[in-house]
Amino acid sequence: MTKTLWAPWRLEYIKQAGEQTECVFCEEAAGNLAEGETLLVRMGAAAVAILNKYPYSSGHLMVAPRRHVGSLAELTDEEALEIHRLAVAAIGALDRVYGPGGFNLGWNLGHIAGAGIADHVHLHVVPRWSGDTNFMPVLADVKVLPEHLLETRDRLRAGWE
Ligand SMILES: [Zn+2]
Repeated sequence: MTKTLWAPWRLEYIKQAGEQTECVFCEEAAGNLAEGETLLVRMGAAAVAILNKYPYSSGHLMVAPRRHVGSLAELTDEEALEIHRLAVAAIGALDRVYGPGGFNLGWNLGHIAGAGIADHVHLHVVPRWSGDTNFMPVLADVKVLPEHLLETRDRLRAGWE
């Protein structure tokens, strides 16, 4: 199980490659998406927390600056601080709502590292369960229904402090 820990990011990249036209982070940060399609969990002053449309596990969030920037070095102090705080708050909300056994947090920088959207940096917050292959038995075959993501979104919004 652990040997494939970071491989799922590749899946995100594969699925989004070729169909990605707009930048999802910029779309979410602009707040223009309808309530029935937005995966925004938290809008901050300088950063946002959104659900991953292609989650590795249920509740898989991404935290990104609202500005379209492609490298960590470009983040302002305010953005870096808010990304950190949103990640902490996301862990808190996930703990309250789902109670996972642990988390993986990570940045994938560049397509070669598995970043699906390489030119808008984002921090993955991935809840992990003991034996979480049970949670999503065969990742490649999982059909992530929008209703499920929206329900997860609403539960995390409600559980956010
Ligand atoms: Zn962007």
